[in-house]
Amino acid sequence: VRILGIDTSCDDTGVGIVELLPDGRVNLLANRVWSQTVHARYGGVMPELASREHVERIDEVMGDALREAGLTVTDIGAVAATSGPGLVGALLVGLMYGKGLAQALNVPFHAAHHLEGHIFAAASEAELRAPFLALVVSGGHTHLFDVPRDGEYVLVGATLDDAAGEAFDKIARLSGLGYPGGPAISEAATRGNPDAVPFKEPLQGQKTFNFSFSGLKTAALLAHRGGAAPEDLAASFQRAAVNVLVKTTTRAAHAHGRRTVVVSGGVAANTALREAFRATDLNVVFPGRGLNTDNGAMIALAGAAAIRAGRPASPLDGGATAYAPLANA
Ligand code: ATP
Ligand code: FE
Repeated sequence: VRILGIDTSCDDTGVGIVELLPDGRVNLLANRVWSQTVHARYGGVMPELASREHVERIDEVMGDALREAGLTVTDIGAVAATSGPGLVGALLVGLMYGKGLAQALNVPFHAAHHLEGHIFAAASEAELRAPFLALVVSGGHTHLFDVPRDGEYVLVGATLDDAAGEAFDKIARLSGLGYPGGPAISEAATRGNPDAVPFKEPLQGQKTFNFSFSGLKTAALLAHRGGAAPEDLAASFQRAAVNVLVKTTTRAAHAHGRRTVVVSGGVAANTALREAFRATDLNVVFPGRGLNTDNGAMIALAGAAAIRAGRPASPLDGGATAYAPLANA
């Protein structure tokens, strides 16, 4: 069955298509993302503008995805769309579009959780079956889930303050490295000295699996005022952030007896983070190229996982939710 996935949770209009084979494997057929640029001049996402841009672009993005896959709309056998968490007005555009499409085609509709999408983005690279541990490191989340059975998510740890991606963005901004912060820090770090600025790694030596990034942000601000070079700040901060993410996740995997660990979300695109995870004794799975930040293919992959697990289709009268925790235990 070919599944079309839609994500309009924030400022990216994403449509992707995957094929779920009878043996449970999945093939990625298309992934198209329209990244909104109107927000740049405001220094943050404007919810009203985001909704309007989704409305204006979604038809075109779907057409591009179908063309990339070499399909017509009647080849689609199921539709998945993000219902939350995210900006409600933005979510509603993709959700309503997806429901309308499913109804018009008379195929099942699956409402998807945005974080389940981020996690299943890694299914583009390896067959993903529970049990495994999942670290979602994105612009709004730094969450560790244990997945003991397909579709079951147990929250193991989370950030107590800022998300990892948020810290990359804020430190890039304060040190003048620009936006988006993640790629800017990553690039500047290659030219900097990671020993130049001493960062204390937060919450290490503790028994929990939580994270904290606001202390690193404050330390970065003080170092910046003290005259630290942006590339040295970037290299030093990146090393500290990568160390805490890798150490805490490794500890959690060992404590839960998990060998397979999914690391996904925008920050999972970070090269230093990937290298550090690859150097552990864990079987780490990352999303494929273009699937780390928000996209529709990851929602199609989450839909494929739901179908494979025999989950029933979603009712067509379900709404969008701004706040929707994934953990169900
Ligand atoms: P959420 O899914 O939590 O609602 P989001 O969808 O806005 O948040 P993503 O699109 O998954 O977040 O990721 C965006 C974040 O990833 C940004 O904070 C960005 O700086 C960060 N990021 C992107 N590329 C890199 C990189 N190479 N290194 C570090 N961080 C990165
Ligand atoms: Fe996201």
